[in-house]
Amino acid sequence: ATAGGAAEWNGKGETSDGHPVKVLANVGAPTDARAAADAGAEGVGLFRTEFCYLDADDEPGVDEQRSAYAAVLEPFRGKPVIVRTLDAGADKPLAFLAPEAEPNPALGVRGVRVAFDRPGVLDRQLEAIAGATADSGADVAVMAPMVATADEAAWFAERARAAGIARAGVMIEVPAAALSAREVLEAVDFVSVGTNDLAQYTFAADRQLGAVATLNDPWQPALLRLIGMVGDAARVTGKPAGVCGEAAADPGLARVLAGLGVTSLSMNAASVRAVGAALACVTLAECERAAEQALAAPNAQAARTATK
Ligand code: PEP
Ligand code: MG
Repeated sequence: ATAGGAAEWNGKGETSDGHPVKVLANVGAPTDARAAADAGAEGVGLFRTEFCYLDADDEPGVDEQRSAYAAVLEPFRGKPVIVRTLDAGADKPLAFLAPEAEPNPALGVRGVRVAFDRPGVLDRQLEAIAGATADSGADVAVMAPMVATADEAAWFAERARAAGIARAGVMIEVPAAALSAREVLEAVDFVSVGTNDLAQYTFAADRQLGAVATLNDPWQPALLRLIGMVGDAARVTGKPAGVCGEAAADPGLARVLAGLGVTSLSMNAASVRAVGAALACVTLAECERAAEQALAAPNAQAARTATK
């Protein structure tokens, strides 16, 4: 139904019986922000700020960051945008935040961990984001990457509030954070599941290594169970829980994720219409049934087939 239905999406992220699931975009530059707005995304679920600085030798100044972020936010005046603070390290190294040599960079000082040692870098970025929010008129929230515990989430939220930013959340991409989703959500305003890293760490399978790619399949029932724990925590706390990894771009999986309690999906601009249309032609009860079937499946392929 999705191929034919894609053209029919009315631009509102919801199931056929009106259960809202926001359809958002992942962006990293002004060009893809524009493409996302043109594709009908209701907002931005993940702005990867480190993409602005992959070639930078030195930390960009506050004013420079402010104008770079405002240029990305500009098409989303009045709309929700989640700005992720720098996710440096492992597959996305930044020269000015390079750690000491590490034997296992994916398990090292990356993401929010960099900010524990160098909080000034985070505070200057938060100041720039607050400025870009004022410049653009977008409804901005900030989000930290690679958070492992509720204490880390609380630490980040406090710094965001000190910078005058209205809403702070964290990514769920470390299995420990998914297992503590309720405590994490109690410390912040929202969470968003990064399925690329959550799969990598759940299956102990490098996301950049083709030889283990079948383990990094977002239909793996074990990964879906962790996402289900996050969805349950969202219901209990009444706070939003999105998905912003590649999984969110799969129209069939979108229904399963909605059924697991996920409240928004964020993806590349090219997938926005197909995912919006896929949600629009099923009820929430059908999504919940699909989620049950996928969770009970013995493997990823069976989960796909069971929910067709
Ligand atoms: C993820 O890990 O799923 C995610 C969205 O973040 P990134 O791909 O930038 O690590
Ligand atoms: Mg990630």
